[in-house]
Parts: sequence; structure tokens; C-alpha cells
Amino acid sequence: VNSLMWFRQDLRVGDNPALVAACQFAQQHQGKVRAVYIVTPSQWAQHDVAPIQIDFIQRHVNLLAQSLAALGISLDVLHLEWFSDTQTALNDYLQQHNIDAVFAGNEPEINERRRDSALIGQGLPLTLIDQDCVFAAGQVQNLSGDMYKVFTPFAKKWKSIASQKAIVPLAAPAPVAAALALPAAIEFNCPTHSSDQWAAGEGVAKRILDQFLASQVEDYQAERDFPALEGTSRLSPFLAIGVMSSRQCVAAILARYPQALVDDTCLAKTWLNELIWREFYHHLLVAFPRLSMNHNFNELGKAIAWRNNPDEFTAWCDGQTGYPIVDAAMRQLNQTGWMHNRLRMVVASFLTKHLLIDWRWGERYFRQKLIDGDLAANNGGWQWSAGTGCDAQPYFRVFNPMTQSSKFDPDASFIKRYVSEVSGWSLADIHQPKSINVNDLFAQRQDDRYPEPIVEHKMARLRAIEVLSALKRG
Ligand code: FAD
Repeated sequence: VNSLMWFRQDLRVGDNPALVAACQFAQQHQGKVRAVYIVTPSQWAQHDVAPIQIDFIQRHVNLLAQSLAALGISLDVLHLEWFSDTQTALNDYLQQHNIDAVFAGNEPEINERRRDSALIGQGLPLTLIDQDCVFAAGQVQNLSGDMYKVFTPFAKKWKSIASQKAIVPLAAPAPVAAALALPAAIEFNCPTHSSDQWAAGEGVAKRILDQFLASQVEDYQAERDFPALEGTSRLSPFLAIGVMSSRQCVAAILARYPQALVDDTCLAKTWLNELIWREFYHHLLVAFPRLSMNHNFNELGKAIAWRNNPDEFTAWCDGQTGYPIVDAAMRQLNQTGWMHNRLRMVVASFLTKHLLIDWRWGERYFRQKLIDGDLAANNGGWQWSAGTGCDAQPYFRVFNPMTQSSKFDPDASFIKRYVSEVSGWSLADIHQPKSINVNDLFAQRQDDRYPEPIVEHKMARLRAIEVLSALKRG
């Protein structure tokens, strides 16, 4: 009686309850454990998974195959196209290898959940184990047994549960058989974009976490909003594909700062809160499947008359809006697959409010580019910014890109890294880019290598408030 571990968004051997369950099952029945990873390029393209994230996944599947070989588990990669091809492929695989039980971690997204329910309905012996969050979706509820729609009470409840339960990551399973030969290199054979500027591996993620907690977490509150600083952990690419679990992060922070759950003066609590935001958005995705289906959380969002100008969208995507802070951020995304959180908020506000382009366009572009693309957090961040979301930024609060620029990149060192065209400008001009006055015969463009501001702030702000007031009754 053999078992199968099906790896999905949990590409790790440490703290992997499904892997542990697969090993225990095989041991109880004196059988063998195998593992699979399923490549579905057409499905991924439909989900807009970024080629850089696919490359990061491919690198980790290779590393995982090596770690598993040391545990005596062989990992096979099944090359399919769509989730709907899974049933036949897995049934064949089960027959071929005499497998009676399949274990996998739960995923919060709707297509993934539908795929799993269909497989179970069709008789696949699949056991799903919660591993996506510290507490499974549905465990952090209000007094009426519903999911919270506001972050602060959710976080409070989450913390009260956390203070009553031991949060202990599982160790990697012990070897189940003699170590296997080093596996051959695995190729996904689908379009990827190199992620080599990001170091890979469970060990790397753990080192980043340890170093961050040892030397940076107490400065996080003060530094996290400044994109020129390395003030945040940069663990998101690992968390997004499950090379590291949120439980490992939370356990590590609580081991050093047990008071972070209760003491508001504990400096580490700010970073813990960010991990709880991740939990909040993941729980929301499960509680409100419509979030996976391109719907506004606030149904009144349907009435918003987005302008959706395609040329303005292209200028935003390409980092050519004439607002150096916005353009530097978009170029950081395009060049590295990652963007600083403060800037994600700035560019999302600029797209949805200054340009009045539907948040779904921006959300999709982010997914196509981000190495840390995560449907729950991305959707949550975009709908928060647009004002259509659960516990969202109010529609009438419009980030001023000039204030954001001078406040969070005061010496423009981040901007100059990505927008070299403005490197000779004064700080005042970088933070307050000007349009030329068409009535002034002698007016000169500041620099013809760099566009003028695509939209004027004051007008855009008023226009956004007017159009987005469709959300007023929400
Ligand atoms: P840190 O500040 O070190 O935080 C630690 C971890 O907490 C992060 O790795 C992440 O897993 C989690 N986290 C932090 N902030 C948030 C948040 N606001 N919401 C949810 N989880 C959070 N995060 C993604 O992982 N994937 C996305 O696709 C994504 N899209 C976003 C889109 C928009 C418009 C906005 C405003 C935010 C988005 N975020 C997304 C959240 C956040 O920007 C990133 O998680 C963060 O910048 C990652 O950098 P870090 O690992 O250094 O974070």
C-alpha cells in the first residue's frame, strides 16, 4: 500500500503536514511514498502566472526533488495543460505505482478548490490538509460564526487564538527509504523568465528569516515605508509558492518575541501584523469565492464608470507616466518581478484613481509580472487601493503621488535607480514634475527623454472622487 504526496503551493519538506501524512500512511502500511508535481502551462497562462514565478517554481521543484531523494522519495513531474486533465493523469499514475492514498495541501483559490472537489467526487483517494495559513480558513470567526470583514477585529481574534495554541512547525520527515540517486534536471518546457537574481531554496528562505528577525525586525516599523532601504524581509516570493510556510514565520517571531501577541509596544508586532494581513486575505478568498472570479467585493463597484484609456494603461505599465515615483516603481516591477509595498499602494492608487482604470487591469498586470504573485494578497491589495474591497481605503482618499514621493523617497535615491532620465533634476522637480504651460511661448520641457505628467493631480483627484462616489452607499 503506497502513498503519494502531491506538491502544489507548498514546495518544501519542512513544516509540510501533507508530506508528513503521506510518509506516516506509507509507514503504517509498510508501503512506499512517491511524490508528484503537476505542470499545467495552459491553466497557468489563463491564471496569468508570471513567467518569472514559473521559473522560481521550476528551480524549487528541482531543489525539492533533491531534498526528497535524500529522504528516499522520488518526485515525478507530470506535464499536463489544464487542471481538468488531472483526473486521468493521476488515476493512471496511481494504477501504475499501486498507490492507495494521495495527500496534498489545501489551496484557497476557486479553480484549485473546484478541481480538488471534482477529483474527490470522482473517487480519487485524495486527503486535503490545511497548510496554507497558520489557522485554516474558517477558524477565525466572529461571534456569529462568520468571517470578519474588517482587519482589526480579525487580527485581534487571530492573536487571541494564537495565544492559546502552540504554533509549532513540523520537522521535515525522517527518511522513509535509502537515499536515491541525484535526480535528473527537471524542465517545465513552458515560457519562463529568469528568476536568477533571487536566491532559491528552503535553506535560503530560512536564513533570510533568521537574519531579518535577528537584526531588522525591530526597525521594520520605522523603515518599511522607504523603498530605498532594505527595510522589509523580501520573503514574499518564498511564501507565495510555499517554500516557507506562514507558520514557520509566525513561530520564529513568537520564539523571539512571545509578547508580540499581546504587547502593543513590542517592536516586532508590526511585522507579525503583516503576516496576519496575509492570513486575512487568504481567509477572505475562501469565504468569498467571488473574489477569485474578478468581482468587486463591494457590489456597488459595478456602477463605477472606469475610463479605461488603453494608452494611459500602457504608459503606466511601461513606467512612462511622467511621475518619477510611479515610473520608478513600475520599472522596479518590470525589471525585478517585485515591488516595494509602499509603491504597490502608490501605483495602484494612481491607476485606479488618477487614471480611473479598472483595478482588474492592474491586478492582472501585477500577476503577469510578480515573482510573489498571490491571488489573495494581490486581489486584496488592489481592491483596498481602489476602494472596492473589504476593509478598503475609502474611495475619496486619493494618494498624492508628489507627497508620497517627497515623504518616502526624500533624497530620490530610489527614483534615480530606475528613472535615470531625472538624475540631473533638482529634488523639487523630481517630486513635483511639471507640465509645460501651453500658453507660455518660452516654456520648455524639462527633459525630452522623459514624458510630461500624464495627468494633472488636482483635476484627477476631483474627477476620481466624483466617479468613485458610486461606492458611497457601500
Ligand atoms: P514584508 O513587509 O517583510 O512582510 C512579510 C510578509 O507578510 C510578506 O512576505 C507577505 O507574505 C505578507 N504581507 C506583507 N504585507 C502584506 C499585505 N499588505 N497583504 C498581504 N500580505 C502581506 N503580496 C504578495 O505576497 N503577493 C501579491 O501578489 C501582492 N500584491 C499586492 C498588490 C497590491 C496592490 C498591494 C498594495 C499589496 C500587494 N501585496 C502582495 C502585499 C505586499 O505588498 C507584499 O506582500 C510585500 O510587499 C512583500 O514584501 P516583503 O516580503 O518584503 O514583505
